[in-house]
Order: sequence, then C-alpha cells, then structure tokens
Amino acid sequence: MDGLKFYTHGAHLIAEWRGPVIPVGTHIPHGDDGTTYEVVEIRSKGERVVAKVEPHFSPEAEAEIDRTVDLLMGFLEDDDVIEVAMVFDDKGRVIHWHEPRGAHGGAIPDSRDLWDVLWEHRDRLGGVAHTHPWKGDPWPSKTDTTTWRACEKGLGKLLLWPVVTFDQVGYWVFNEVTGEYTPVNPEYLTITLEGIDEIRRKSGYVEEGP
Ligand SMILES: [Zn+2]
Repeated sequence: MDGLKFYTHGAHLIAEWRGPVIPVGTHIPHGDDGTTYEVVEIRSKGERVVAKVEPHFSPEAEAEIDRTVDLLMGFLEDDDVIEVAMVFDDKGRVIHWHEPRGAHGGAIPDSRDLWDVLWEHRDRLGGVAHTHPWKGDPWPSKTDTTTWRACEKGLGKLLLWPVVTFDQVGYWVFNEVTGEYTPVNPEYLTITLEGIDEIRRKSGYVEEGP
C-alpha cells in the first residue's frame, strides 16, 4: 500500500493508496493505538485504489467511547443552562454547530452526533467552543473539564476549549505538567477563532444598541 492516506469526503472516511485492491471487510491499521479502518466499499482508478472505510475499535476502546458519549450528554444537555457548542478546525474555522433542544424547532443532533463529528475530523480538529450564556468570567464547570479530558483521551490529541460568555472568552488547554486545564493568553494562540459573535447570538445574546 504505497502512499496510504486517509481523508474525509462529505460524511465518508476514505482511504487511498497505490497498489493492490483488497477485499471488502479487510482492516487497515491506522495510527499506533491499535485502531483500524474496515473497508466497506472499494474501487480502483488506474493504479490508485480508493476505499470507503469505517473506524473499527477494540472492545476496550469502544467502552471508552461509550463513556465519552455519556459525558458529552451531560455537557450538552445540562438543564440549567442552554449551551451552544461550535467545533472548529486547526485554523479556527467552524466545522460544525451544535445547538440545543428547541433552538430552531427541527431535529436536534445528540451527543453521539457530536462525537461522530469530532472523530470524523480528528486529524484537522482544533477544538470545541461552548457558551455560558451570561456576562462574567469564562470558567469551565467540572462537567466541562471531565468531558474535555475524556474527548482528548478518546481522540488521542489535545484540543483548545474556549468558553464564551457574553462579554469574555477563556481559551482553555490541558497542562500535562499540572494535570489541570489552564487558560492561554489569546496573544499566544496559533489560530484565529471565527464564530465568536455568532455563537453568542445563537445563545440568545442580543447586542445592546448604541
Ligand atoms: Zn460549560
């Protein structure tokens, strides 16, 4: 499998390489953590082979993901506050909006959907921002930090976790030395996060007139 690479195309995960066509059902190793991708459809174009693949986890990894999805449920469906979440890439561009129950009528994505988005985009994922829809300090809750840690373990990478209030933004990252989440000075961020105004509006913030 020469030049094996993985990418997403719409909602699908794709593996592409130069070399042999392999049977549907074959597992392709991906990463060092024992994760594999299972081939569900395959096609060859000249010497290039393109396969639609799905992630396949060990039972332990599967159980860990179930726990993470449960935590995401608490993170997203806390009855006290209506939180909006925004998934962004490593350049700070918005990939996905998660809006709470009843925000726009219609079907509301659940926490499994959010996990699938994080997994699907994990290679280019920058982080997840969410709102605390009031004015004040952007401190994360205990549920927030527990969920963040579980997501980072499940994805195998550290992310940026902005907490957005109506007048402040806190940019939180995990500090591997202290084992705690600490705020980063925005001047040191390597990305420019878009969507801050919009996430506030989606959370019910109405700009005061002049
Ligand atoms: Zn929160």
